[in-house]
Amino acid sequence: MLDINQLRNDFPILHHTLYKRPVVYLDNAATTQKPKVVIDTTSEYYAKYNSNIHRGVHFLSEKMTEAYESARQTVKQFINATYNHEIIFTSGTTESVNLLAFSFGEAFIREGDEIVVSEMEHHSNIVPWQMLCQRKDAKLKVLPITYTGELNLTALPTIINERTKLIAITHVSNSMGTINPIKEIIDFAHQRNIPVFIDGAQGIQHQIVNVQELDCDFYAFSGHKIYGPTGIGVLYGKEKWLEQIPPYKGGGDMIKTVTFEKTIYNELPFKFEAGTTNFIGAVGLAAALKYLNEKGRKEILLYETELYQYALQKIQTIEGIRIIGTSDNKTSIISFLLDNIHPFDTGMMLDKMDIAVRTGNHCTQPLMKFFGIDGTVRASLAFYNTYEEIDYLVDSLKKVKDLFS
Ligand code: PMP
Repeated sequence: MLDINQLRNDFPILHHTLYKRPVVYLDNAATTQKPKVVIDTTSEYYAKYNSNIHRGVHFLSEKMTEAYESARQTVKQFINATYNHEIIFTSGTTESVNLLAFSFGEAFIREGDEIVVSEMEHHSNIVPWQMLCQRKDAKLKVLPITYTGELNLTALPTIINERTKLIAITHVSNSMGTINPIKEIIDFAHQRNIPVFIDGAQGIQHQIVNVQELDCDFYAFSGHKIYGPTGIGVLYGKEKWLEQIPPYKGGGDMIKTVTFEKTIYNELPFKFEAGTTNFIGAVGLAAALKYLNEKGRKEILLYETELYQYALQKIQTIEGIRIIGTSDNKTSIISFLLDNIHPFDTGMMLDKMDIAVRTGNHCTQPLMKFFGIDGTVRASLAFYNTYEEIDYLVDSLKKVKDLFS
């Protein structure tokens, strides 16, 4: 059993008073708070070991390089990749998708080819593919969703054809919390030799991700959404794909030899890590992943599930609440509208009660269009949230409602 109050002590920000009381932080889908071990590890590395990696023969550089490569190993184990060199450090999910869209596009996308995304994607998993399609005269196809906010899998066979070169789909919807049946999609796609990219920005922190078991071809996530630092993220790719696609950025470290006539690229993973990477961020990310392993991932996920069920059931008792995304298979994210109060107003009022939620379209404008709305209020949970905080949220929402009526 997890002692949540004990765990909360690991997160300094949760004890900071905002207006009148410590923050009730329910904006975890935007970014998560950091445990002390991540903050301490990061500052320790800046204070004691900061030195550029891979190039030095001196003590500090070797120490930093070792820590960076060990962070890669930690990520590899966390998602059960086959090799360390299948882990590419990026600045976050957005950069991972852009890298893949460019590099995969250069190698495999030709005029008339098709790429499939879904109607619930974050802009980060739409726009880079759209840019690629424009560059290559290819076509972006969209897998529709249902009114419960689930992928409409019955449409999949009609969306996919012999021109489909890649499916790019989110693991968990950032606007609704829907957990997509990615294994089913991957199996379906692989029967037709189509590779699959999974946007794991909201999946990695709420699901156990085993890339070998999933058999996904690519998986991306951001460090800051899994209790790690900002500015660091991951693109996992199967070796066979990463070997075949060209680099996305040129510069130092990604080369083996350079002459004015020709450059030979470095081996994996360095081929994709041009320039000075966020090496201390990578070490901070590893500290976050180790922290989760130490506390018990299964126990954390179990608690999150129970807390989410409680929150959903309690929020639904408020009269006039409309939940956006009503699939039975959801995690940790509750998007809603309260009567006809504008989400922004609800968010502002909650803020004055020391509750942090997000309002707006959550970078999913096509999804909002599907539901015929401008935006929602989104409460997104992490394992450091408590039942008391949910009760406080619900009471506060009732107050907002009273004030506006
Ligand atoms: N995809 C999804 C599903 C997300 O929720 C987010 C972040 N809101 C992103 C991609 C982009 O992540 P980042 O801003 O960390 O690059």
